[in-house]
Amino acid sequence: MKTPIAFVSQLDNKQRSSWIGLLRKALPSEKIEFAEDLSAVEKAGCEFAIVANPSSTQLEELNNLKWVHSLWAGVENLVPLAKQRSFDIVRMTDPKLAETMAEAVLAWSLFLHRKMPTYSQQQRDKQWKPLLYKEAADTTVGILGMGRLGKVSAQQLTRNGFNVLGWRRTQKQDSNVKCYFGENGLNLLLPQVDILICLLPLTEMTHGMIGSNHLNKLPQGASVINFARGPIIDNNALVEGLDSGQLYHAVLDVFEKEPLPQDDTLWEHLQVTILPHISAVTSSTTALEVVAKNIRLYRATGELPTVVSLDKGY
Ligand code: NAP
Repeated sequence: MKTPIAFVSQLDNKQRSSWIGLLRKALPSEKIEFAEDLSAVEKAGCEFAIVANPSSTQLEELNNLKWVHSLWAGVENLVPLAKQRSFDIVRMTDPKLAETMAEAVLAWSLFLHRKMPTYSQQQRDKQWKPLLYKEAADTTVGILGMGRLGKVSAQQLTRNGFNVLGWRRTQKQDSNVKCYFGENGLNLLLPQVDILICLLPLTEMTHGMIGSNHLNKLPQGASVINFARGPIIDNNALVEGLDSGQLYHAVLDVFEKEPLPQDDTLWEHLQVTILPHISAVTSSTTALEVVAKNIRLYRATGELPTVVSLDKGY
């Protein structure tokens, strides 16, 4: 007999109810329940759970967990729990999510490339002043993290005429974009980049990785986009670069603390665009197809799709 699937999440009640309703519809032959509604016997028998930002306390009673399926792509909060409890993590790898991210990457790269922050300011100042036009081919975009999101974003930028370079941890060349790797590679990449886009996962290695030593290597007038996770880039160093005039603008979608606290000075910085973590929003339709496919495969064969490396953290 099939064991029930627990849905574990710290989302608000409305969102939790909506997700569990959609999960039940996508997997009609499964019994999917909020973890707290399972009996003690069901909890003990629960082999896997579907999770959306769960707390360690919520997962505590599911002491027979072998794996969890995350509805989100970023799993930095799950990795320490999985290490402690020895369960596997399958994260969201939805091609639609990568397309949505690529759209955001293109939109905000164009925003910077066509100097929209300056034209907005000129409008507020009632100033009629055409700026020098530079072609997309003469603008180099550097993508930190050439994984599922980075690669699709790179293709989108290339299609739109930008010169694109990538950076990753390992020496791999599985896209048409020239890729650098490791610390030496980063030092070679940065001086070439007009727009630096962060699409790295948050891990022990990437936490605080991009600081003043790296930002100072960007050419005068470069911009930074962070669509990954707040703690990867040192925002104090970023603001120093903006204030000194070395950097043009920063587009930030992710922050150490979200929502960004009201008293954070970033809100009012004229060279910073703040977004409320919207660069790639999960589509419930396609995300649920991914989850349902993975769970059906597991039920049929006992096989898990690619799991997160708990050592690497992504
Ligand atoms: P992924 O497929 O796991 O790719 C990660 C990439 O980062 C890989 O290319 C990897 O290098 C590289 N990398 C990891 N650690 C590195 C290090 N120490 N130095 C250099 N490169 C390193 O991840 P993804 O699916 O593209 O997602 C990336 C992140 O985007 C997620 O973790 C999540 O935090 C964020 N995200 C944000 C939003 C949003 O709305 N803002 C939405 C979805 C996801 P290798 O290729 O060499 O392994």
